[in-house]
Amino acid sequence: MSISKQDAHAFHFLIDMLESVEIGLVVLDLDYNVQLWNGFMENHSGMTSTAVRDKNLFSLFPELPQAWLKRKIDTVITLNTRAFTSWELRPYLFRFGNSRPITGTAPHMYQNMTISPLARPDGSIKQVCLMLYDVTDVACSRLALEKANSQLGLLSRTDNLTELLNRGAWEGSLNDEFKRYQRYGHSVSLIMLDIDNFKIINDQYGHPVGDDVIRHLASLIRASLRHTDYPGRYGGEEFGIILPETDIEGARLIAERLRQNIAHAVVSSNELIIRYTVSLGVASLTKETPHASDWLRQADDALYAAKHAGKNQVVCTPPFSAPAVQD
Ligand code: GH3
Ligand code: MG
Ligand code: MG
Repeated sequence: MSISKQDAHAFHFLIDMLESVEIGLVVLDLDYNVQLWNGFMENHSGMTSTAVRDKNLFSLFPELPQAWLKRKIDTVITLNTRAFTSWELRPYLFRFGNSRPITGTAPHMYQNMTISPLARPDGSIKQVCLMLYDVTDVACSRLALEKANSQLGLLSRTDNLTELLNRGAWEGSLNDEFKRYQRYGHSVSLIMLDIDNFKIINDQYGHPVGDDVIRHLASLIRASLRHTDYPGRYGGEEFGIILPETDIEGARLIAERLRQNIAHAVVSSNELIIRYTVSLGVASLTKETPHASDWLRQADDALYAAKHAGKNQVVCTPPFSAPAVQD
């Protein structure tokens, strides 16, 4: 078989293009030995085509997912059809560095890959070609967008003064816990608390100092709870805390401990030392409570009973008689 001068030129161009194209090209035989390794692969792996030629791919790169890749390649050969893998399922096949200056924050190059069967003139498949595409830009933009969306989701649920759940998100948790109780009947309790005489703090020291007191209370609440509890800012200086798996006695103890911690704490703001107290209402969910809003009302009624009884105290509903706790 003789080839014309024109064909020889075309072949030369083709080889040049294969060498310089921004796609990784690897040809493997049926024993996974490397038959072709183009410029892209040389540049990113640091291995020349002479160094890898006729060597087993898995000996050269022991970190490759051998079982997975062999299964893919064998399917391509058996079915004589292409296979694709996306960076979303497997971020990369070869762990190459990220060479993009703009998206330089990525720890590695993200890759899509196509595996193509290479048929001989008689139709038999004795080789496959792996084509690797650098999709770092696309992956980084997508990941940044997903991160921004999840931060946005979090922001829409968070109160910006205290970083606790805001009222809407907290009420969502209250409804969820109410439904869980209806289904499983596990104990669950609710504490509502409100700062005592907060208007005086605002009037005496100013609104920004009042804000510091609210922030202080939020961090004290956060520090006192289990990670399964749900504290939220219900409004102004009123907070709600949902306590899953907690009966009325347990909830009263938590509320009482919180009350004492707050009464003993001092807030330093604007070179001032401020002390404050809170009143707390506790309500445990019972089968007789028809709706989540009734549960909330019971805890709120208990809170206002605590206010009317002189503030800086805990009132439970249903009432729970425990020995009075001394500060
Ligand atoms: P009580 O002991 O009966 O609770 O009396 P109180 O003075 O605390 O009365 P109330 O709970 O009604 O006071 C709420 C006050 O909280 C009124 C409002 O100006 C103030 N407030 C609401 N939101 C904020 C806020 O974000 N920052 C500050 N600094 N003040 C707030
Ligand atoms: Mg108040
Ligand atoms: Mg209030």
